[in-house]
Amino acid sequence: DLALKVRDLRMRYGTDEPWALDGIDLDLEPGRRIAVLGPSGAGKSTLASVLLRFRDPDGGTVELGGTAITAYPADEIRRAISGVPQDPHVFASTLRENLRLARPGCTDEELWSVLERVRLAEDVRAMPSGLDTEVGSHGTRLSGGMRHRLALARALLSAPRILVLDEPTTHLDPETRDVVLADLLDAARGCATLLITHDLTGLSEMDRIYVIVAGRVVQQGSHAELLGTE
Ligand code: ADP
Ligand code: ADP
Repeated sequence: DLALKVRDLRMRYGTDEPWALDGIDLDLEPGRRIAVLGPSGAGKSTLASVLLRFRDPDGGTVELGGTAITAYPADEIRRAISGVPQDPHVFASTLRENLRLARPGCTDEELWSVLERVRLAEDVRAMPSGLDTEVGSHGTRLSGGMRHRLALARALLSAPRILVLDEPTTHLDPETRDVVLADLLDAARGCATLLITHDLTGLSEMDRIYVIVAGRVVQQGSHAELLGTE
């Protein structure tokens, strides 16, 4: 099956820079959930951007189902490992077109169903033009949280094997984080999920937690093993 296997992954932002990823190893089995936990500057977003192929690593391998991701056709791997970067891009077009990028030809019914899943449907219904609302720099500006949900809806539309969520609750009020994260994980059911986080929200839902500091995995284990509770 399509397990994700990361080995000795390295990346730095310049030859004079320190390693942002300094030999990361991790595994994500189908249907499982892992968290990558670490303080600011640990390399979490860099890891997400390499897995989502916004950046090329300087060394190491990422395999999906035993095949290097670089050996897959670009559009196939983009659908297979999909997710939401920390600052998701919104294109200057309608909401419908923003969503359909992930799956050209999908119906409005499918779009509404995925918008319900990420709890964005109500906001979109409240907009004067619904799915035809123009967003991006020439249209309605979306809040950080809405941009994030839109990007998640887009990711889910491609029915990914691996879903990468980079700090999905940063834009939310602390009191709604637990609930929203539970919703997101529920929406993500069926995909193996890699959650990037700097706080403890939702960690008890994870099968394994990798703690990274300065681009290295310094600890890993179950929630009970790492935090001594169940
Ligand atoms: P985290 O997401 O855990 O906060 P990052 O992946 O953003 O960590 O950063 C890891 C390291 O890489 C940090 O030392 C950070 O300063 C550096 N870094 C991140 N983005 C850039 C960039 N665009 N240019 C140069 N250095 C960067
Ligand atoms: P252009 O219309 O010039 O092509 P884009 O719409 O692609 O510009 O967006 C330009 C920048 O603004 C991007 O960095 C994007 O992430 C940001 N952006 C786009 N749409 C929104 C939005 N609705 N709300 C906030 N920022 C946005």
